[in-house]
Amino acid sequence: LEFADCKFVPKIQENLEKEGYDLPTPVQMQAIPAALEGRDIMVSAETGSGKTAAFLFPIIMRCCMIRIWGLSEQQRPLAMVLAPTRELSAQVKEQAKAVAKGLPFKTALVVGGDAMPRQLYRIKQGVELIIGTPGRLIDLLSKHNVILQDVCMLALDEVDCMLERGFRDQVIQLVQALSSPQILMFSATIPPAIEQFSATILKNPLRISI
Ligand code: AMP
Repeated sequence: LEFADCKFVPKIQENLEKEGYDLPTPVQMQAIPAALEGRDIMVSAETGSGKTAAFLFPIIMRCCMIRIWGLSEQQRPLAMVLAPTRELSAQVKEQAKAVAKGLPFKTALVVGGDAMPRQLYRIKQGVELIIGTPGRLIDLLSKHNVILQDVCMLALDEVDCMLERGFRDQVIQLVQALSSPQILMFSATIPPAIEQFSATILKNPLRISI
């Protein structure tokens, strides 16, 4: 598989080349086609494997198609990424920004430590992707009237870390707040606790192990 086979919109392909993404990594080769088909995936992959791009590229592609075809009322977020820390969330945002340059794809960070009003203001102005930590996102969901009904893709990054940090119930609560999203789940390892967790939220996932 090459990135050209993925039939990304030309602007994404162009940005990939500019950013030095020549060939897909093994995790990307398996995860990207399945995610583009709309399947849930459960991936065991470490940092450095290219896992971030494996969920970001399909998210960017789907969001851009929805916007270009005018399939959704503007302003509402279409995808969400949950990560265990604010640092990881910020890294995801930077990668997304680079690959989506020049496309109708805006992102908002929703993490602890930054002022919530500012994060909320950005969302209300209209973003395609919300990236954040579970605690802050629950806060956003419960106290502020953000409409998440159009969120059709959800990526869960470093699920093992999220469970270690005690985010299990919050992640489930966030999944339940969305209307049956496609879920792309990533974890360094898949011990029984994560296996069980994934069974409660994923629908017939394709398992990918690198
Ligand atoms: P990650 O595993 O997501 O933390 O990614 C590790 C680093 O590899 C990031 O800096 C990416 O920008 C880079 N990267 C990911 N996929 C590719 C690729 N297909 N070609 C070149 N660099 C990549």
